[in-house]
Amino acid sequence: MSRVLVASRNAKKLKELRRILDEAGVAGVEIVGLDDVPPYDEAPETGATFEENALAKARDGAAATGLPCVADDSGIEVDALNGMPGVLSARWAGRHGDDAANNALLLGQLGDVPDERRGARFVSTCALVVPGGAELVVRGEWPGVIARKPVGEGGFGYDPLFVPEGGEVSAAQLTPAEKDAASHRGRALRQLLPALAEFAG
Ligand code: IMP
Repeated sequence: MSRVLVASRNAKKLKELRRILDEAGVAGVEIVGLDDVPPYDEAPETGATFEENALAKARDGAAATGLPCVADDSGIEVDALNGMPGVLSARWAGRHGDDAANNALLLGQLGDVPDERRGARFVSTCALVVPGGAELVVRGEWPGVIARKPVGEGGFGYDPLFVPEGGEVSAAQLTPAEKDAASHRGRALRQLLPALAEFAG
């Protein structure tokens, strides 16, 4: 069994990453988290793009542990904000990971924006780095619109404000399986599966 490190400190995101990989069931691959490996210094996310950040996180994890490493960098791009918050999604209101404050700020910013200009997309880039070997970066996108108030208890982050294209309910109202089937993270990670399977040999 080959061990693959999934490098994320965001507990809810890690849960989704594990769930999607477990569901896909890559034979011969055991997923381990940061708590299962000796601690190492994690560089701050300073990249200008999701791709740069995901690759940096995966390189750090692979170099520190000697294990192949998968990392995700993700966020939401809002059309009326010219693609922001983007890579700043986690700390949009100024404090890393304060979901309620991020959502309140985003809603306030879009207060006067009419329905036809509330388009947005979740983006997930996932990097796979094999120590001394291959590097692969993939991107998944999930289009939708920003609602006028938060709805739903599931998911995390901006999910209560995000209504996926073609649907009526927010991402926070979807079951975990429904979210994984449609989400940016699901779309990105599924592109990594052939490489993971090949690597597991
Ligand atoms: P990261 O940990 O730097 O990749 O930050 C990702 C941030 O983007 C999270 O803190 C959320 O605010 C947002 N985000 C990413 N994926 C999702 C999602 O699936 N649902 C809701 N918010 C998300």
